Amino acid sequence: MERFEFDTLRERARYLSGAEIQLLRRAYMTAARAHKGQVRRSGEPYLSHPLAVAGILADLHLDAVSVACGLLHDVVEDTDYGLDEIEGQFGKDFRRIISGLTKLAKVHFRSPEANQAENVRKMILAMTEDTRVILVKLADRLHNMRTLDVLRAEKRQRIASETLDIYAPIAGRLGMGKIEAELQDLSLRHLEPQTYRVLDARVQAKRRWANEFIREVSHTLNRELRAEEIPGELSGRTKSIYSIYQKMKRQKVELDQMYDFIALRLVTDTVPHCYTALGVIHNSWKPIPGRIKDFIAMPRANGYQSLHTSVVTRSGTHFEVQIRTTDMHRVAEEGIAAHWRYKASTQYGERDMKRFAWLRRVLEWQRDVDDPHEFLNSLKIDLFPDEVHCFTPKGEVKTLPRGATPIDFAYAIHTEVGHSCIGARVNGVVAPLRYQLRNGDICEIQTRKHHLPSRAWLKIAKTNRARSKIRARLNAEAKREAIEIGRKLLEKEARAHQLSLRRVRNAPLLAEALRRHGAGSLDDLFAVVGYGKVPAARVLKDCFPKDRFRKDGERIEETEDGSGLVAKVRRFIGGQPGQILVDGLDDILVRRARCCSPLPGEAISGYITRGQGVAVHSARCPQLDLTQDPERRVPVTWKATTGNSYDARLLLRVENRKGMLRDISKVIADSDTDIRDLKGRADDASRAAVQVTVAVQNAKEVRSIARLLQQVPGVVAVERGAPGRISRRAAT
Ligand code: MN
Repeated sequence: MERFEFDTLRERARYLSGAEIQLLRRAYMTAARAHKGQVRRSGEPYLSHPLAVAGILADLHLDAVSVACGLLHDVVEDTDYGLDEIEGQFGKDFRRIISGLTKLAKVHFRSPEANQAENVRKMILAMTEDTRVILVKLADRLHNMRTLDVLRAEKRQRIASETLDIYAPIAGRLGMGKIEAELQDLSLRHLEPQTYRVLDARVQAKRRWANEFIREVSHTLNRELRAEEIPGELSGRTKSIYSIYQKMKRQKVELDQMYDFIALRLVTDTVPHCYTALGVIHNSWKPIPGRIKDFIAMPRANGYQSLHTSVVTRSGTHFEVQIRTTDMHRVAEEGIAAHWRYKASTQYGERDMKRFAWLRRVLEWQRDVDDPHEFLNSLKIDLFPDEVHCFTPKGEVKTLPRGATPIDFAYAIHTEVGHSCIGARVNGVVAPLRYQLRNGDICEIQTRKHHLPSRAWLKIAKTNRARSKIRARLNAEAKREAIEIGRKLLEKEARAHQLSLRRVRNAPLLAEALRRHGAGSLDDLFAVVGYGKVPAARVLKDCFPKDRFRKDGERIEETEDGSGLVAKVRRFIGGQPGQILVDGLDDILVRRARCCSPLPGEAISGYITRGQGVAVHSARCPQLDLTQDPERRVPVTWKATTGNSYDARLLLRVENRKGMLRDISKVIADSDTDIRDLKGRADDASRAAVQVTVAVQNAKEVRSIARLLQQVPGVVAVERGAPGRISRRAAT
């Protein structure tokens, strides 16, 4: 049986050398071993599929590597076989092509939006390092479409619409007209079975008559051509069902009015003979004005060349004639595949590879345009592509400028996803936020509720959208905090003069004070003070008659970077000069940084933020390195008091078993510690993540709880986490 199967392929690959047939045989043996025991949905052995794909590639007379990759294309995806084994056995070319195919297998297209389809097509081409990846992929898809009937209706439709939106246009763009037409017809058959059946029946009936007509016309034309000594071969075809369907839909033309339902093709030897033949044809039948197209002088974007004309017989039957040389014909039928056509004893040198790379780039970016000027324009714009196309984990494509980072990607998904972005995984691996996205990357954004963008992001983000969203959010946040700080400062200043904030609110002179400092509301006035632009004492003085004050409000030197505020905050917090004692952190001006949430007993470092008071970070917090201004660093130490408790969060990786949460909470309760929050999330049937927040007094306490948890059966790992570290996947 196996022997017989390979013989069929060998027959179709007769154009290859003996050594190359041996290569195919080795690929065949490997595929047979790898897929052994696997069965297709139809019940056939799985091997029948790669064998058929290789057959399609052999029919295109592609090089031995392409055909062999057809045999091996599903091996890495569907079996235990790895890329290293492929490379070891067959070499680097095979690795490149098979890994390209494996990557493409993960691309799924589900969005109904047309511009998304264009992005996916561009991206597939951009992802492809070797054109042969696309050729094998198209052969794969063609065979899958030919054998789609065994699948359920829903799946059939999904695959068919993906084929119609993505793969048929790629085949067309690469000039592979024959494969494009078959993919389209097969797609239509599954997407609109009713329409297809009706059209097919009508076309079949018309075809019987058309074939008779083609025979007669060919006979006449052959005689005329022989008289002019033009060599060549005539053939006829009728229009494909899908293109009839499209023309009916788009131009509201009935089948009987389609001038190009019947087309004759003359393949001759030279270009002059093409033009002579055109004259011969116009002598025999009446040409239809405006229907002559010279694609020899002005080739189509995908390299297609031919002369087209439409003529009408005396009895009123229209038909189209296409005239081209043998070379042009090969390009028309096979497109880019013609370039990968087997060349006996020719190795593809570096020059060839470069040529193909260039060709690929041209083909990648062109639109399907008939007008060569339009083509040149789009070529100019697109030849130096400055876009990258990346996926969300759900397969949606985001197009970003080159150099864009996960932050841009996050803001492209949704503003909120951008704001709450705390990290990214690219192709399943944790990547820094500075990572420059590449074509085909699958980017997953990790988020944390209530997280805020940092100023450092403005340098990382490349898109205007992301930058303006970050700036807006930073400003809003700074203002919110400035209002709070301003209120505190004003309140403290008021108290020093035996006044309350309420008295300030009701002061008769308040309206004038607001005007003087350009504030539209009391909050605005607080903000002005909080930003350090106006001292609280000055505001107070403006609100009340002069005699209430023993001395003038001190004036803070205003500077662009807010160092006036820094001085103010230092003075406000007091303590030993240059050192801040941190205690319960209940004061608005001193707070635990949310990124690392340090605990008493841990080394800490303070940072005076603009409008946010002092943030106390763990000395090891990576966020500290992001803060640019060493001027604003202040030494802080824990005040030696007891009785304060702090929230600390622990993240546990555990086995997903019954009673796990109960055991965890029991251990914590037994150690006499309060649990503030406990959440679990199953990753899959065997693993889960647990997040527990406990109230502790210091770092030592949380370490001892972690040790106890480590001993619970099924707990794999315990680590300290910042609040909200259990990430959720981005919404799209
Ligand atoms: Mn396959």
